[in-house]
This record gives sequence, structure tokens and C-alpha cells, in this order.
Amino acid sequence: MNSPRPHTLSSPDIKSSPETPKVSHFLRQVIESDLANGTYAKRRWAGTPGDASHHEMGLPDPAKIRTRFPPEPNGYLHIGHAKSICLNFGLAQDYAGVCHLRFDDTNPEKEDTEYVDSIIDAVRWLGFDWNSDTTCHLYHASDYFDFMYRAAHYLIREGYAYVDDQSFEQMRINRGDFNTHGINSPYRQRTPAENQHLFEQMRVGRYNDGARVLRAKIDMASPNINLRDPVIYRIKHAKHHITGDRWCIYPMYTFAHPIEDALENITHSICTLEFEDQRPFYDWLMERLLEGGLINAPAPRQYEFARLNLTYVVTSKRKLAQLVSQGHVQGWDDPRMPTLVGLRRRGYTPESLQLFSDRVGVSKSDSWINDKTLEGCLRETLDKTAPRAMAVLDPVKLVIDNWDDVMGKDVLDHCSAPLHPQRPDLGQRSFKMGKEIWIDRSDYQENAPKGFFRLFPGNQVRLKYGHVIECTGATQDALGHICCINAQLVPDTKSGTPGSNIIKVKGVVTWVSVADGIPAEVRLYDRLFTVAQPDAGGKDFLEYINSNSLKVVTAILEPSLATAHGDDKFQFERHGYFVADRVDHTREKPVFNLAVGLKEGWSAAIST
Ligand code: ATP
Ligand code: MG
Repeated sequence: MNSPRPHTLSSPDIKSSPETPKVSHFLRQVIESDLANGTYAKRRWAGTPGDASHHEMGLPDPAKIRTRFPPEPNGYLHIGHAKSICLNFGLAQDYAGVCHLRFDDTNPEKEDTEYVDSIIDAVRWLGFDWNSDTTCHLYHASDYFDFMYRAAHYLIREGYAYVDDQSFEQMRINRGDFNTHGINSPYRQRTPAENQHLFEQMRVGRYNDGARVLRAKIDMASPNINLRDPVIYRIKHAKHHITGDRWCIYPMYTFAHPIEDALENITHSICTLEFEDQRPFYDWLMERLLEGGLINAPAPRQYEFARLNLTYVVTSKRKLAQLVSQGHVQGWDDPRMPTLVGLRRRGYTPESLQLFSDRVGVSKSDSWINDKTLEGCLRETLDKTAPRAMAVLDPVKLVIDNWDDVMGKDVLDHCSAPLHPQRPDLGQRSFKMGKEIWIDRSDYQENAPKGFFRLFPGNQVRLKYGHVIECTGATQDALGHICCINAQLVPDTKSGTPGSNIIKVKGVVTWVSVADGIPAEVRLYDRLFTVAQPDAGGKDFLEYINSNSLKVVTAILEPSLATAHGDDKFQFERHGYFVADRVDHTREKPVFNLAVGLKEGWSAAIST
């Protein structure tokens, strides 16, 4: 009988504990300086997001800082988002703050509740929570459409916004470029009253999509093109997944985002570098709304960091969608995908992704992170937690010809091994050895090269946790394929018994008995791309797909794996870390995925 196997080992404290000093970076420095200067110390918080007068009624904000993770619900989250989640939620945790989960749902046509649900699951799975002070800080940009409309009216009234009738093409041409100033729109001088009337007509649905827009009135000669009267509202007769048909005008992201931050009392609005050029508009809008007394002071500030680029991986949602729709992978949760659902199915744990996020740090300039760094984090966390087991991935039979004489006919020898070598408290696993066992084909060489210490004629090796055997040769089939290896057992060498070390061997071989091994489908994954930067410099990433990224084999597993549940992770000794597939694995038909090899560069030596 096997002792009951624990399916999840409680993880030792691998998250950074308060004693582990956090690596400082520019965002930490900004926050620490704001805290030291009391920049946000006097803000009030009314318990829910809102405008200046709403927060005025509240108590001093209990959160020392407020950050937010603002996904657009238009796809599945990926490793880049995990970085942003760990950063925003992590900083809030470290500085007695709160991080809001906010759905940036200002683009009605692309969004879907399916994505909303998957995002909620992913953030929770990563180990973060948006509830604090008994408040649930889960918000939607669409909650603020009324305020945004009011803010737009305020800008119009003060002469800071106007309705433009130019076509998108005219606007684009008149915007100019780096070398040429923009040209003022012929509609720029409309009076506030006229603009107000037209904007209301836009709102009630008088015009078709694209007929008119509302633009901020800033400076068509600004060296920053984003300040050349950016569009802030457009007409879109589209149904929104929350507000339905209530609106046919929608705010542009650049207008909506600063407002969302301000209403939620965000202190540090952290985004990726491509928004750097938008920061002057962010600040311009904050100043206008503060002047009008519409938002709580002081206003949030935007900070940019370099987005995560990982070698051999693409992380744009659009490109990931192409991989799925064109059938290059089997879905968003294919274990080769860098989506959080894919990584999870591959065997990645929240701890490994948090460790990765800490380890890659925060930088202000774009760079590529080696995918081995990510694998290393997984290996490191699983090494501490994953129970061990033996598995033969490319089985060939080995017959111990003197078994009946030494051990007795039909006798099965009981063997046991620790579930985890550094954690004896977890107990033992047990399995049987018999006359016939499975070993990995690559553990035998007819003509062994120098330095090969495993099975070849005349060599002695230890069968891990069992006896020492001496290889006597192998049998080949008609095609010259090895179909059976022969050996003799060396008596009195059973691992753990007195005197078993008398015979010194250089090689140890893992094995599984024919008598109690269980067959299983094992999916061996490799990188999805053949080049390190598949989509850099305008390359077509689809041309670099690795056609050998998945190999499916029938392996034989140690019997203690018979009770594994989907998502349980193990170290297959001498191979790597494997996870029971959360979708397809059953007890009747076990399926395991390769999470990561035991060492960098490991690949299963599978004969094809
Ligand atoms: P994609 O380009 O893949 O479509 P996105 O930036 O449009 O991603 P959003 O849903 O808008 O996706 O992103 C939510 C948050 O995650 C944003 O704050 C964004 O800056 C951040 N984010 C997205 N991709 C990365 C990345 N590769 N590295 C770090 N942060 C990222
Ligand atoms: Mg985006």
C-alpha cells in the first residue's frame, strides 16, 4: 500500500518576507519621497470613488498610497500583465496602501464579460486582493461616464474644448508631424454656447459615427503632437457590455484614464513607457479639473516603466489572438502560451511569477528579459515544494535474469523513498521492484563513450532506491532496435540496507516496475518560437513558429502518482518538473505536462 500522498505541499515561505530587503527602484524612491513629504497625507476618501465634493465629506484617506491595475477587458492576461499586477499590488502592500482593480472599458466594441471573469480569476490566482478596509475596490471606467460627460461640459464652458466637424483624415493631415506645426481647425473658434449645443446633440444621437468629435483646445503648434488638440470624445453607436445603449458617445482613453485615476484617489498611476508622451496631457487635464474644483487635490501623477519583453515570447494580445485563431496553439490556455491561463496549465505557480516579477525589477528603458530567468524562478519555487517521483519517459524493458534465483520467483521487492529529500516530515512513497522494470532508453549505450556511467555491457549501476545491477547486454529486434536490456542483480546491495555500499558505482538509474508502473500521456513542451525576438523590428512572428514545440509520449510512472489531481506538481527525478494537466488529466487517463526541465537546457532524450 502506498502511503496517502499529499497533493499540495504547504509552500515554505518563498514570497519575500519583511526580512528580505526589497530591491529599490525609481518607483519605490518616488513613493518613499512622497510619504516623507506628506504629499498625499491630507487627502480625504469618501469610501467610494467620486468628485471633489464627494471626497470632501469623507475621512482622511486610510490608504497611504493608491495604485491601480487597469486592464482593458478585451483579451486574456499575459506574463506582461502579471508584471504590472505584481508591481501595482505589491507596492500597495509594501507601503500600507490599496490597489484597485479597474476595468478600462471605454471601448465598447471590443469588450466582453468573458474577459472580465478571466481577469478577475487571474488576479486572484496570482494572490492579490482588491478588498481592504471592508471595501471592495473593483471598479469600471464606465461607472464614471456621467462624470466624464460633466468634465467635458466644464472644459467646453471654459473654452478648453470644441466640437470639430473635420473628417478623421482632415484632422490627421492638419495635425502636422514632428517637422511641421499643425493647422488650426476651421471649427476651433466656435463659441462655448455653440459647442455646448453640438456636444449635447452628439450625446442624444443626432449624428452618425465619425461625423463630429470633441477636442481639447490646447496648442496646434506644440512640439508634443499629443497636445495638438487631442480628441476627447467620439461618436460610437455601440452597445456597451455594462451601460448598454445609454451612450452613443464614448470618451477617448487618454481623456478617460486620468479622470478614472482622479475619482479613485489614485496617488501613483503606473503605466508602460508608450504613455510617456501622453503625460503632459494627463497633467494638463488634471490642472483644468483642479481649477474647476471638480477633482480631489492633490491630483494623481503618472509614472512610466519599461514593459516586459521576454525572449522567445510574444505578448501582444492581438498577436496571441492570431496564434489561437489560426490554430498554431490549442487555445488561450495552451501550455505554450504566455497567458496566465496557459502558464498555469504549464505548471507555473503564483509564487514563481511573483519571484520573477521581483527579480526582473523595474526599469525606465526597454530591454529583453531572457526566458530562462522565468524558467529559473519556476524551478526554484517547485524545487522547494514539489513531491518527487520516478518516471520513465522513453521506456525500454530491462530484465534481471537472475531475479528468480536471488529474490525468488514472482517476488516483488518493496522499495521506498522520501517524498521530498529536504523535508522528511512529509513522509515516504513506496513502490515495488520485480524481475522486469522500465528504464529510459537513453540510459543504455551499446558502445558507451568516455564519461558515460550508466548501462552498458559489463557496467554496474544502482537502480535508484533499489539494488545494484550489472548490465550483461541487450536484445535487438529485426530492425536493429534495442527491445530489451539484460542485467544481473548483485545480491545484498539494496539501498539503505547494511553493507549496501560495499560496491561502488558511478551511475544511478531511475526506473519503474513493469508490475506496478502506470502508463500516462506526457506532453513535452518546447519554446513556441525559433528566434529570440520573434516580433521585433517589424518581423512577421508567424514565420518563426517552432514546429516541434510539442511532443507527446507514453511514459510509465511510479504508482504513487496514481492519486494525483489536476494541477498537482511533481519532480520526475532526473528529468524535471511536471504538472498533472488541469484540463485533461483523470485517474483513468493520466496526463502530465512538462513544466520545466531539471536543469537549464534539459531536453528529454526521446527517440523518434
Ligand atoms: P497588449 O499590448 O498586450 O494588448 P495592453 O497594454 O493593451 O496589452 P491593457 O489591458 O491595456 O493591455 O493593460 C493593462 C495594464 O497592463 C496596463 O497598465 C499596461 O501598461 C500593463 N501591461 C500590459 N502589457 C505589459 C507588459 N508587457 N509589461 C508590463 N506591463 C504591461
Ligand atoms: Mg492597452
